[in-house]
Amino acid sequence: MPPENPSDPPAIRLRELEKVYAGGRRALDRISLDVPRGSMFGLLGPNGAGKSTLINILAGLVTKTSGTAEVWGFDIDRHPRNAKASLGVVPQELLFDAFFTPYETLELQAGLYGVPRAKRRTMELLRAVHLEAHAHAYARTLSGGMKRRLLIAKAMVHSPPVLILDEPTAGVDIELRQMLWAWVRELHGQGMTIVLTTHYLEEAEELCERIAIVNHGRIVANAPTRELLGLAREKRVDVTLEADTPSLPAIAGVSRVERLAERLFAIHYDKRRLSAGALLGQLSAAGLAIVDVTTREADLEDVFLDLTRRSAA
Ligand code: ADP
Repeated sequence: MPPENPSDPPAIRLRELEKVYAGGRRALDRISLDVPRGSMFGLLGPNGAGKSTLINILAGLVTKTSGTAEVWGFDIDRHPRNAKASLGVVPQELLFDAFFTPYETLELQAGLYGVPRAKRRTMELLRAVHLEAHAHAYARTLSGGMKRRLLIAKAMVHSPPVLILDEPTAGVDIELRQMLWAWVRELHGQGMTIVLTTHYLEEAEELCERIAIVNHGRIVANAPTRELLGLAREKRVDVTLEADTPSLPAIAGVSRVERLAERLFAIHYDKRRLSAGALLGQLSAAGLAIVDVTTREADLEDVFLDLTRRSAA
């Protein structure tokens, strides 16, 4: 991996990137975005937000309508081969030819990318994804987890500095998800720039240092994960009362109240209008005796809902 230099171009650089599909659907509405070198970057958005379109443009599978896109400093129009060579994409679907072995799958892919035999790293990659023992087994005999790891290896045959993982853990069980996360961390630790699309907010929160949220083809947030979590407007406090109470008095700034049990209420409030202290004070003033209080930190889901609702308005 080349040394980082502040004047190096970002791993991915998009300017005013626009895609209007035949039929008029505007999937990307002039997106500008930098993915820093060496980062672990999350691209989040609801279905139909434009994430696949963005990835497919970078991978050379969809032609953009206007704007520019660069991978590792290479413009996809002016230097398409270099741009392609700098990027590995791990697709969502587990598509393999069932009659090829992992070894053959990687050799074939290396051939497609024009990697000369002497420079191929087939066994090294199989070792790296812990598939060495299965190098010569038919792909159809591999477990789901092994297949996903083979897809990652396949995206890396040409040693790209940037790897995009499209929904890497969609539909996989928790154990396998943890394994894949450890995996992605390992790759990142080796210096790869990793872009992760996911609709599991927990996954982005856990793995990504920086997150961009896409909605309706626009970037509605782009910030370090920690900062993004601070953007949530809504907070929640759970209050246990001393006596059974059917409902709570109306309080300005409270957006929603859920009754979780006879005496337990989850109170959602707008943190710009109300503090937890003021909220509890008002409950006491209304004659309600409080026996227990827990507050919950906002998570990415709160931020995501806040931001996507706001940008839809
Ligand atoms: P995401 O990956 O975030 O779910 P997509 O990039 O797949 O979003 O889709 C963005 C928008 O573009 C959606 O409204 C989708 O219906 C539309 N779209 C995607 N692919 C095509 C296509 N080949 N032709 C026309 N519209 C498309």
